[in-house]
Amino acid sequence: MPAPGAPLELREFERPRGGVLLETLASEVCGTDVHLWRGQLAGVPYPIIPGHVSVGRVAETDGALDVDGNPLREGQIVTFLDVYGTCGRCWYCTVAHATTRCPHRKVYGVTLSSDDGLLGGWSEYIHLRPGVHVIPLPETLDWRAFMAGGCGMPTALHAVTLAEIAFGDTVVVQGAGPVGLCAAALAQLRGAGQVIVVGGPEIRLQAARTLGADVTIGLDEDRVERVRELTNGRGADVTIEATGVPSAVPEGMRMTRDAGRYVVVGQYTDVGSATFNPHLDLNQKHLEIRGCWGSDVGHVYRAVKVMARHHFPWTDLITREYALENAQQALEAVEAQTVVKALIVP
Ligand SMILES: [Zn+2]
Ligand SMILES: [Zn+2]
Repeated sequence: MPAPGAPLELREFERPRGGVLLETLASEVCGTDVHLWRGQLAGVPYPIIPGHVSVGRVAETDGALDVDGNPLREGQIVTFLDVYGTCGRCWYCTVAHATTRCPHRKVYGVTLSSDDGLLGGWSEYIHLRPGVHVIPLPETLDWRAFMAGGCGMPTALHAVTLAEIAFGDTVVVQGAGPVGLCAAALAQLRGAGQVIVVGGPEIRLQAARTLGADVTIGLDEDRVERVRELTNGRGADVTIEATGVPSAVPEGMRMTRDAGRYVVVGQYTDVGSATFNPHLDLNQKHLEIRGCWGSDVGHVYRAVKVMARHHFPWTDLITREYALENAQQALEAVEAQTVVKALIVP
């Protein structure tokens, strides 16, 4: 990706030396890549190789260890945390235990330049620098199933953890993209009594039902009213926002019952403001709101464990796989929402 808005180009690179080398099996195409292409993220060192969540076969180990402390083996199928370089020493890393706010963090496929090497997944090989957290996929987890979740799965796992769902709760998920779909599946594992997914288009609502959502609500319906009908007039116990649309946030507050909990995970980039009534929507309502940005190695590690154990029909989410030379089409399909999940398979 040479620059925002410019057509993608195929380029050749020297084979990197030192560190772990992965032969790429697949890398995802997600909304972040569309934001990158539209130039909506700050501090991106174009040109970049997009692709932050990827799986690959270990081609060179350089003596590196996985997250469990075991030596990597050639031929092993692994994923890795796209976030690299969190320092473990700054105030956010040590005192707040919020590594997603570490000022030193860099992200493969997002904030690492291709001038510095094969540091993104839309590539035949990926170079893992020393210190990258590598997580092997167990044999019970097909790499396509893992990639069907993509970066949406660890992000959703983070959000659903913060949501603290109680057994029997009604959970509303706003948004039926990869984060919302994964959240709908994980809410069931956390004991939700009813899972409602609000979103569109129909291809995504169908995917939500395949993953076990009890009810889906389309964008053309009276969404708040429908949620109230389904919850004896009260609203959801827990609502998880995964839309990326600012106006969804006040709407989500109103979909949640008094003294309920609302987790906002979908506002990953700054696309504008929304207004709410502080008295009605927050204070008198006694609403608890939690913000959730990104994920860390623990979320990816737990995502691998959960997906290896709980076999939802994950691979149904993959609408299409694209070769490297068709990456441009993949980007455009994700932007147009004609696919649920698109993969680059070099
Ligand atoms: Zn730090
Ligand atoms: Zn992503």
